Amino acid sequence: KESGRLIIVAYRLPFKIVREQDAVQLFQNSGGLVSAVLSLVADKESAVFDTTEKIQWVGFSENSREELKGQSLANESFQAHPVFIAPELNEHYYEGFCNNLIWPLCHYFPSLARFDDVYFEAYQAANQLFFEKVAEIIQPGDTVWVQDYQLMLLPGMIREQFPDNKIGFFFHIPFPSFEIFRLLPVTWRKAILNGILGADVAGFHTNDYVEYFLKAVRMVLGHGNKLHYVNLSNRIVKADSFPISIDYNKFNNAFDDPEVAEARSEVRASLKEKIIFSVDRLDYSKGIIHRLRGYQRFLETYPEWHEKVSFMMVVVPSRDTIEQYQQMKSEIDQTVGRINADFGNIYWQPIIYQYRSMPYNEMLGMYTASDVALITPVRDGMNLVCKEFVASRKDRKGVLILSEMAGAAAELGEALIINPLDRQDIADAIKRAFEMPGDEQTKRMDAMRERIRAYDVFTWTNDFFTQMTMLEQEHERLR
Ligand code: UDP
Repeated sequence: KESGRLIIVAYRLPFKIVREQDAVQLFQNSGGLVSAVLSLVADKESAVFDTTEKIQWVGFSENSREELKGQSLANESFQAHPVFIAPELNEHYYEGFCNNLIWPLCHYFPSLARFDDVYFEAYQAANQLFFEKVAEIIQPGDTVWVQDYQLMLLPGMIREQFPDNKIGFFFHIPFPSFEIFRLLPVTWRKAILNGILGADVAGFHTNDYVEYFLKAVRMVLGHGNKLHYVNLSNRIVKADSFPISIDYNKFNNAFDDPEVAEARSEVRASLKEKIIFSVDRLDYSKGIIHRLRGYQRFLETYPEWHEKVSFMMVVVPSRDTIEQYQQMKSEIDQTVGRINADFGNIYWQPIIYQYRSMPYNEMLGMYTASDVALITPVRDGMNLVCKEFVASRKDRKGVLILSEMAGAAAELGEALIINPLDRQDIADAIKRAFEMPGDEQTKRMDAMRERIRAYDVFTWTNDFFTQMTMLEQEHERLR
């Protein structure tokens, strides 16, 4: 049993900090990572961390140092340690290296990737700032869990100064195949891989991403690996897959929530007999345009479905100050307008399109009222929307159409799996979904629901720390 504390390091803090006159108010995020991490200490008996201590969380502060001076940044679960990054540095680090280079590269959009020395310098400097904050608080026996592509250098930095602490790393986006990864300048790709290898366990969503990572380690650094173990001179690192998940019970139980039930009836009453739903952040990786092209092909190929289908497409605003995202948005606007103009009439609007975020109950109303969830990313690390849709279907009905380029496709083989670049494939899958008998829907749903139930987000964190403990035992065996 561990006695140390858990230190999470992520770009974002677990709560939003709002300064009000002399005090601050903390609004805890409802995101997956926050609730997953909380579950690690929820059961005091079986917890592997010191539950008398709060979870320490190091993250970038949107507030200035002055604003937070003298304030307590803790709630009952978390003690926050804000990292202050000057706006210009953050621009080059976060907008630059992270979102203009790593994000497009890892999502297979190398043409959108911008390679700039200033970005990499900023990335190193920002990782150093996170490191300094960790160095201030870390104690012997603490376990540090570093999150995602904003902090790939950090595990290595911590390992160098604190060789005896346990360090985990999780990568939340796709790790690309070697032919893509090698596009990075030589010194950058070495630094990134050495950084990640500072961890004891490096986690990815799928086996493919693990394989690509291990191949990059072999090709770039020359470290061999046996199965999932990378042999370094003085220790071993385990790279393994941990498919992130959702709070299954929360989504399953939502079906019977009176507010969700009401939202569901309203949706059913106001839309046509067949309902298609999609929701995603505005991003080129989400395949929104490809989805529209597939839907258009469906309307062209299968006119018998005209006036019988409503496609509710919600796009959540994101990064829309960036020109690329603005261009993509106007292309979506135009394509929706054209499809509605070409096919619609006074009785029927083929696409209902909203550019806004969705309140939880409304989204659950849509999940549970829809006949089809149409999820078509051209690349997605995992995709949680499809898991939420499946988990929310306590009625065991509805059809998931899912891109083979989403990490989730590795687990959800009972979905209708499509290639988002193939319009006819999307069109035919929609038709097949509409014609699918109820018992076949249930059979497919049951299989997927059981898999998500068995491996929910709490299993995910548990699995990760079980691997951390096992690796430690392996280290002791080798000593
Ligand atoms: N979501 C949200 N606000 C909305 C619509 C959706 O917070 O208005 C949530 C959704 O429930 C899901 C997450 O955003 O949990 C999206 O996760 P996913 O992995 O599908 O995509 P990401 O945006 O992380 O690439």
